[in-house]
Amino acid sequence: MTTFSYQFTKGPWTGKSTFPTGIFIDNEFVESNSTIDVVNPSTGQLITKISEAKLEHVDIAVKAAQRAFDTTWGLNASGETRQQLLYDLATLMERDADELASLEALDNGKTFSWARGTDVASSISTIKYYAGWASKIHGSTIETDERKFAYVRKEPKGAFIWALWCASYRGTSQPLLMMAWKIGPALAAGCTVLLKPSEFTPLTALRMCSLIKEAGFPPGVVNVLVGYGPTTGQALSEHMGISKVAFTGSTLVGRKIMAAASKSNLKDVTLELGGKSPNVIFDDADLDQAVSWAAHGIFWNHGQACCAGSRIFVQAGIYDRFLAALTEKAKAIRVGDPFDPNVDQGPQVSQLQYDRIMGYIDSGRKDGATVHLGGNRIGTEGYFIEPTIFTDTRPDMKIVEEEIFGPVGVVVKFTDEQDVIRQANDTLYGLAAAVFTKDITKAIETAHKLHAGTVWVNCVNQLHVQIPFGGYKQSGIGRELGENALDNYLNVKAVHINLGHTM
Ligand code: NAD
Repeated sequence: MTTFSYQFTKGPWTGKSTFPTGIFIDNEFVESNSTIDVVNPSTGQLITKISEAKLEHVDIAVKAAQRAFDTTWGLNASGETRQQLLYDLATLMERDADELASLEALDNGKTFSWARGTDVASSISTIKYYAGWASKIHGSTIETDERKFAYVRKEPKGAFIWALWCASYRGTSQPLLMMAWKIGPALAAGCTVLLKPSEFTPLTALRMCSLIKEAGFPPGVVNVLVGYGPTTGQALSEHMGISKVAFTGSTLVGRKIMAAASKSNLKDVTLELGGKSPNVIFDDADLDQAVSWAAHGIFWNHGQACCAGSRIFVQAGIYDRFLAALTEKAKAIRVGDPFDPNVDQGPQVSQLQYDRIMGYIDSGRKDGATVHLGGNRIGTEGYFIEPTIFTDTRPDMKIVEEEIFGPVGVVVKFTDEQDVIRQANDTLYGLAAAVFTKDITKAIETAHKLHAGTVWVNCVNQLHVQIPFGGYKQSGIGRELGENALDNYLNVKAVHINLGHTM
């Protein structure tokens, strides 16, 4: 059986982490005859080898999830039971929070302090929040006439949810948090889960398997299969036994999943995809605050954030001062070992992602944009990239149009207030947007005109477990978080009872 065993020595937590890394089906770890290499993004060196889920494991896991749904979960587990188990899971995550944060820093490259303070803390809050919902899912009665009793009830959407999440600052950006966003509402709603984590950042999901078992979830309720996208991922998307797919990842792969779902059993699909979020900064904004938030917007999580504010539009009156101050902020970002408490930015998640980002930087140069800051690799090992700012861009450049998923932003000067809305909306994405101004009327008008599922006013990247999050346009379908996320996993059934109508 593949097992992970690692003594952490560099961070604030210096414990030893040991857990099985087989394929998790029916609360047991199953061996595979092939493995996946897990690489440390800080060094490019192998951390461990984990079992690779193959096609045969998909069928076995689907059967396990179906069995659990029909016997111990779904409509067979009361809301109170589901609530207690989710709460117990959150308690175990609290107990092991330092270990989970250390694993995230090792595997994903994000700083330990950010992983501990944000990813792990928010994951625990998410599980607790949906624990609360598990006992509060209810339908309604609908008054029609006195000879009919009609009601609507909510039932778990199906035996299986396949949730997977991305591989960068999310997959490699927020692997644990993305898992919590999926399993929280799915389990609260009574669905059983097949989870396919990113092959690049599987460690926290595999550690969670042991906690799920320890919390007492019945076998088959959560199954975790780490495999490659075009094989295991594709097989899950096409599987006739899976009724729902909830996916977080790139728009490219989201499109493939939707196609596979439509060609098989018309699975219900929710998609949380990419973004190229605009950040509109008006002349009357609080300059210091706008600069600090804008830097956070693009450089937070190494730019590996679906909602990264990667297009920064600045009004002409403050453009020069804004750019100078943003440059200083970016220069002050300390890039290095994610376990060093003085470091702000770790490595990008993988060689693949590093190559993609450097490719975009090259294309910006070739297209004639100015590399105002950065643009280079840092060091000779690992996947570290300088915080990078481009200016003198055109709307048709790849660096302006496409999601880079790295610490690379474009800063664009604007004069006309109407035109900046047009430019901000001129993208196939619509995940998030931000506006900075002291004029509340202008703020609200702009927020309403921006085509995005989330608009921040005088801040960026603010997410809250109670507030829905998701995309317009090609940034996705459906919403995560808040009460809305439960709907992803619930069917609505209408029941009509005849109290005296005769034929
Ligand atoms: P990705 O799309 O490359 O991979 C995501 C997952 O899809 C992986 O698990 C991969 O194995 C799987 N996959 C690949 N090919 C597949 C196929 N043919 N069928 C089924 N599955 C397949 O994304 P990534 O690089 O891991 O993550 C980065 C992307 O995720 C970015 O675009 C980012 O914006 C997005 N993201 C969105 C949100 C959101 O909430 N909207 C959150 C985080 C990340």
